[in-house]
Amino acid sequence: KKLGIALVGLGNYAGGQLAPALQHTQNCYLAGIVTGTPEKAKTWSAKYNIPQKNIYNYQNFDSIAQNPDIDIVYVVLPVSMHKEYTIRAAKAGKHVICEKPMALNAADCREMIDACKQANRMLSIGYRLHFEPHHIEVMRLGQQQVLGKVKQLETANGFVYGGDPNAWRLKKSLSGGGALMDMGIYAIQGSRYTLGQEPIAVKARQEKTKPDLFKEVDETIFWELEFRGNFIAHGKSSYNNNWGYLKAKTANGFFELEPAYGYGGIDGKTSSGPMNIPNVRQQALQMDDFASCVINKKPTRVPGEEGLKDMKVIDAIYRSLDSGKQEKIG
Ligand code: NAD
Repeated sequence: KKLGIALVGLGNYAGGQLAPALQHTQNCYLAGIVTGTPEKAKTWSAKYNIPQKNIYNYQNFDSIAQNPDIDIVYVVLPVSMHKEYTIRAAKAGKHVICEKPMALNAADCREMIDACKQANRMLSIGYRLHFEPHHIEVMRLGQQQVLGKVKQLETANGFVYGGDPNAWRLKKSLSGGGALMDMGIYAIQGSRYTLGQEPIAVKARQEKTKPDLFKEVDETIFWELEFRGNFIAHGKSSYNNNWGYLKAKTANGFFELEPAYGYGGIDGKTSSGPMNIPNVRQQALQMDDFASCVINKKPTRVPGEEGLKDMKVIDAIYRSLDSGKQEKIG
């Protein structure tokens, strides 16, 4: 049996990526939606053949507990709403996928993990790149030291924000922060899984060239992430630069991805030549893997704990911006 997924929040990512990906999944399908906008309920219901009984709004959402068609709730809302909807979904007896960044801060992530444990439900974060073969290759090259030990590492992710100046992403109470939370998170986890280690401390600085647009949130941040053995990985995030790479120099050569973090078009090479790895439907693989973990009662490779690890780094980066000093992670 295919598991039923209900998407909560029918914005750009749900409509542009997740719903189309769910047309290509083997272990799960788009069974339901949760939306505050009746017109969206109508168009989605017609487009994806979703029965009225599987359509919820934010008020009656908890009654999803009585709906056997829905096995997994996928939270695709602004960051400030991730905690509430993850916990409500788990309490309604549903397994949960929550989008990145997992929550506003590490403390909220811990509450979400605990709530899902208490409800005996599985929790996963929408970390699509853990299912992307270039990134899986980078994990292998880095962690198994295929080209020797990693000697230098730089990861960068950003784009020039040209969107709505009133969007939730630019409001701190809704987003928790700017480009670091939205884009930098991929660069942080890229360095973590290249090395296969958890960072110990971080020092960060920021630049702001558009203070009117980025009144409440960070625009560009540079960080130095310390791992054991005094190894420093360099990283940066931006809403004002088109960055997207992961570059490692190793004892015997190099490996790199660029562009590195998109939904497709990822390309990579090593000192031995081009990677020649095909692009895949990342979100379909990600959701199929989680459904398979639920069906087979196996742990997901991107549990809530993985989201918490990135949030601990992000919290420490913001602390370092405030203190001007290196801050411990944890
Ligand atoms: P979006 O603004 O396009 O969609 C947000 C949705 O939430 C909209 O449908 C909106 O109506 C709804 N919503 C409910 N209450 C709201 C409120 N108070 N304010 C604003 N919107 C409200 O955003 P998006 O780009 O789809 O991002 C949604 C989530 O998905 C975020 O957590 C984001 O980080 C994540 N995301 C992940 C990826 C990825 O590659 N994994 C890509 C894009 C977005």
